[in-house]
Amino acid sequence: MGMLVTAGLLVTATPEGPIRDGAVLVGEGLIRAAGPRDQVEALAPPGTPRHDFPGGTLLPGLINCHVHLVFDASMDGMGKVREADDLSLFLGMADRARRLLDSGVTTVRDLGDRGGLSLRLRDAIAGGLLRGPRVLAAGPPLTVPGGHCWYLGGEVADEAALRAAVRARAEQGADLVKLMVTGGQTTSGGAGMSESQFTPEQVRAAVEEAHRLGLPVAAHAHGTEGIAAAAAAGVDTIEHCTWLTGDAYDPREDVAALIASRGIAVCPTTSPGWRAMARWIGEERAALLQSRLPWMRDLGVRLVMGTDAGLPGSVFDDFAGSFTLYEELGFARERIIEMATSGAADALGIGGETGRIAEGLSADLLVADGDALATVEALRRPLFVVKDGVAHVPPPRPE
Ligand SMILES: [Zn+2]
Repeated sequence: MGMLVTAGLLVTATPEGPIRDGAVLVGEGLIRAAGPRDQVEALAPPGTPRHDFPGGTLLPGLINCHVHLVFDASMDGMGKVREADDLSLFLGMADRARRLLDSGVTTVRDLGDRGGLSLRLRDAIAGGLLRGPRVLAAGPPLTVPGGHCWYLGGEVADEAALRAAVRARAEQGADLVKLMVTGGQTTSGGAGMSESQFTPEQVRAAVEEAHRLGLPVAAHAHGTEGIAAAAAAGVDTIEHCTWLTGDAYDPREDVAALIASRGIAVCPTTSPGWRAMARWIGEERAALLQSRLPWMRDLGVRLVMGTDAGLPGSVFDDFAGSFTLYEELGFARERIIEMATSGAADALGIGGETGRIAEGLSADLLVADGDALATVEALRRPLFVVKDGVAHVPPPRPE
């Protein structure tokens, strides 16, 4: 059974631009038509169920490019993962997947789990056993022994082990490979946040092996040196991209230009709790690190949205809470939506499937309460979500 969804504002994330008083016709899981309401209504077969939101914005379902379903966003999420058995971890992941859907997220990329649990969750959702967004899953991230997130099980000691681990992920059905090029904040011991864990040659070998098997590579990199190695190796996306050398903010324009010219997407990972985080690390420091976002945008880098959901304070039910940072930094609202829909889909290689409201694509839709082109705050109030043509009404969000 299809459906007709109408809204006061339709944002298709295509070059067509926003349409006042628009509608989308859904049939057999796909978008059958989209455009001005009167035209689309005329195409709907008699008796088609309808959902009308005259005060809402209808847009493509959102794509969060960086989540960790295994973590629960609590302060001790990492410790819990180390102690939990597979079943309890999986049940928690299923609950978090449903909360992502509640918030209007119809696709996520999971960039690091334990034991391939996110692949199993992906298949359970795709098979209709559980409700949640479409999942692109990396499995355990590749790291050095004792390195960033080593306890997730992806430790590799040398180039041969790196290549073998990439092959193993391909065999297990991973959608991509996650490589911890530098250290990170949340693991004690091992490389510091800005220090490289892998040599440029090792990064290149991992990318070569992954691409040979048709898998994209997402590179975690806080350090400028690691970012440069990832860009030179031709990874597909760079995560965080914090531009640090030691403690210093050290952006390199030549590297950013290389990232832009190679079409590598950058997912800077902004938490919905970015305001609290800024107070935590110091407002001045936070502003300095945030300045990389308009800087990269202006150099032509493709930016996509992700929250690192699961890390402390980065909740699963408020993706759009992270958009407010970009709004404050002066990003155009249509651009912000594009970074979380069509731009994200293209960066993840699924632009032919989802990310836009266009005939023939999956019916992945979100209706938000209010005019999302007047403020992205509207996107924090989802009224109605459709994923693969299946309607989902989110429970009201507690204030
Ligand atoms: Zn992450």
